Amino acid sequence: MARLVMKFGGTSVADLERIHNVARHVKREHDAGHEVAVVVSAMSGKTNELVNWVNEMPKVAGSNAQIYDAREYDAIVASGEQVTSGLLAIALQSMGVDARSWLGWQIPLKTNAVHGAARIEDIDGSDIIERMGRGQVAVVAGFQGIGPDNRIATLGRGGSDTSAVAIAAGVKADRCDIYTDVDGVYTTDPRLWGKTAGASKAQRLDKITFEEMLEMASLGAKVLQVRSVELAMVHGVRTFVRSSFDDPDSIDSSDGANPPGTLICDEDEIVEQQTVTGIAYAKDEAQISLRRVSDKPGIAAAVFGPLADAHVNVDMIVQNVSEDGSVTDMTFTVPSSDLEKAVSTLEASKESIGYEVVQSDPGMVKVSVVGIGMRSHAGVASTAFKALAEKGINIRAITTSEIKISILIDQDYAELAVRTLHSVYGLDKE
Ligand code: ASP
Ligand code: MG
Repeated sequence: MARLVMKFGGTSVADLERIHNVARHVKREHDAGHEVAVVVSAMSGKTNELVNWVNEMPKVAGSNAQIYDAREYDAIVASGEQVTSGLLAIALQSMGVDARSWLGWQIPLKTNAVHGAARIEDIDGSDIIERMGRGQVAVVAGFQGIGPDNRIATLGRGGSDTSAVAIAAGVKADRCDIYTDVDGVYTTDPRLWGKTAGASKAQRLDKITFEEMLEMASLGAKVLQVRSVELAMVHGVRTFVRSSFDDPDSIDSSDGANPPGTLICDEDEIVEQQTVTGIAYAKDEAQISLRRVSDKPGIAAAVFGPLADAHVNVDMIVQNVSEDGSVTDMTFTVPSSDLEKAVSTLEASKESIGYEVVQSDPGMVKVSVVGIGMRSHAGVASTAFKALAEKGINIRAITTSEIKISILIDQDYAELAVRTLHSVYGLDKE
């Protein structure tokens, strides 16, 4: 017997029939003798609709920074999960499973004061643990908690993944199962090979470490919200990504034969470690270069201070060593959506920074090679550079960490680059 948290995303609870299907998945684990808590998202599209309604409301006269009252935004957008948690509890009850819905404040799942993007601070899992012990299924509304002001606070878009991992940590679950519309984490985006069935060379990973998954998620793989992976890593929550569209009755309970999916876990659980685990990519990056910046102490602060104040998210940063110690070039990337703001911020600070010209290019993509095995293997980077050179792909910037190499290239070459790297590191499906 195990204690499980099962999380179902928006597409899995998109209508009543699917909610029923979810209930069958839950019943299967419950009948197998497991203690079960479930975390649900809103029906797909619901949160968008709610957010749009808020945006259509008239703004407070005279206010500029605050578009609307964030506490009321939270009261509105959190409602989608209230509906699905209640519906799933009813569906379970109708199948003879004892179940009860829980909103964030009822648990309570306490957050900080940042409405709209709140962070979880504390969860009291005791009541739920006691009920689970009696065989009652807890159906928890994801995406929401209660702030220090005693009001509903939401965790940011996609936040129900984070709710699920946090609940798993809070009730000391053996595993957090994330049921979603894909059947696991792949070596890269399977859609890169087009829509023809069987054409994709991407492979589903059986296991991936927390560190690698964190890189993959932050670098563009959209399976899980980045914060949920961070949280899973910090609390050591083993997280299993699997498909909710499998027939609930044709798959064994988690104790039986392994259902298809990907386990995100600690390094120790992975016996055979590949050097490279996956290739991620992030489109819509923009490159900015400051030409002839004076090369003196404080220059990086002069450039990136104002950008931070303007909430521009700076990513790859490359600075050259100047030849004569006087001027150099500085190149970095920002999301394309931030480009205009970034350039105008830099232009406004031209005098204090001291540079000749700012150049920018919006059509960039960042391709990243990720693998924990890089820590102990040499030559991983040079393999990538050689393979890209052979395809005539020009590299604009490179950054590395212990377990990843990121390369900035023109958007036009994105797919070719990813497919090339996927193959050169031996990740292609036979
Ligand atoms: N329903 C929320 C959203 O769409 C939370 C989630 O689905 O994870 O952002
Ligand atoms: Mg989601």
